[in-house]
Amino acid sequence: MNIKEKDKEFIAGTYKRFPVEIVSGKGSVVTDSEGKEYIDMGSGIAVNSFGIADELWQEAIKEQISKVQHTSNLYYTSPCVELAEMLCSRTGMKKVFFSNSGAEANECAIKAARKYSAEKKGKEYSTIVTLKNSFHGRTLTTLAATGQEHYHELYCPLTPGFVHADTDSPESLIKLCEENKVAGIMIECIQGEGGVLPLEKDFVCGIYKYAKENNIPFIVDEVQTGNGRSGMLYSYMNYGIKPDIVSTAKGLAGGLPLGATLLGEKVENVFGFGDHGSTFGGNPVCCAAAVSILKRIDDKLLSEVKEKSAYIFNELSGSDGIESVSGMGLMIGIKTVKPASEAVAACMEDGVLCLTAKDKLRLLPALNIPFDTLKQAVAVIKKNCKTQ
Ligand SMILES: *Cc1c(COP(=O)(O)O)cnc(C)c1O
Repeated sequence: MNIKEKDKEFIAGTYKRFPVEIVSGKGSVVTDSEGKEYIDMGSGIAVNSFGIADELWQEAIKEQISKVQHTSNLYYTSPCVELAEMLCSRTGMKKVFFSNSGAEANECAIKAARKYSAEKKGKEYSTIVTLKNSFHGRTLTTLAATGQEHYHELYCPLTPGFVHADTDSPESLIKLCEENKVAGIMIECIQGEGGVLPLEKDFVCGIYKYAKENNIPFIVDEVQTGNGRSGMLYSYMNYGIKPDIVSTAKGLAGGLPLGATLLGEKVENVFGFGDHGSTFGGNPVCCAAAVSILKRIDDKLLSEVKEKSAYIFNELSGSDGIESVSGMGLMIGIKTVKPASEAVAACMEDGVLCLTAKDKLRLLPALNIPFDTLKQAVAVIKKNCKTQ
């Protein structure tokens, strides 16, 4: 049996894979089992922040793995503390809880908000308000948080206590808050899986102000938008707000599994001994990898992310076969005239790997993709979106 047949036989059928076996790569170029090279415009869904096999990142991992790979959270380890300190000093948040994925980081965020509100206002203050068209993960609770019905079907009952607000005006969300006993508000500043849609500044600032005035923990899900992706370290920084809780994962450790939930002043002491935990969370190898990534997400890199973003917007906006371009930084959605999946397949044929989000073609390249590589990829995308 070849790999496609074995995969089909032995792996649960949850993923519709592209017909490519990736065997190696360097930076933003990956190689398949037949030796064909592709420019990678998806970076493992915003995970490989510095591309494939980045040397500094590999060094950090090798150094830590040669010392100790895991200790459990019953002992102190330095990469975990170093990373938490970096995250706090760069965001002004106060404490960090480490886990292994985005869904887990969100679970922790939800638990922190519920516990805070239960203690401050009463146990009945348990409802979490999220947004329609959002995506927060695949566990039963983060599915409940996700405001897209089609993910829910056949998995009910989901965790109760979630309502989904419209994103058109703060008033409709505020109305929901007044009809429910609310423990927290959770948003993605740029809805990723929902179609790469940045929220309006007035909307975000309006609901943030309401949350602040009503002592409702304000949670920003930065699982996809975080760690430099939007052109700022975290996407909320584009909106001039200071959330109470921030969850992140995907690009944080550059390709190793790591989730983090950042707790601000309001909730910094909400958890005591035994209130939450994760066996693998804060793994020293993953944390050492994240330290090496975060150190390099500096002002220079972020301004390059913005320049590359502007280049993509300029090249593709108004091009034949492209209806619109949305997003921020290196998180971009392209509404194509032809089905996005057709454009993606044609790009793959021409050696460029792209993603989709809903009906859009989606780009999430490595933050350090070289400009000339990016230009090549954009030319291929432009060509394959054309209708004539
Ligand atoms: C990917 C994603 C998640 C889920 O992350 P996992 O690591 O797959 O659990 C949650 N929220 C957002 C916004 C995401 O993009």
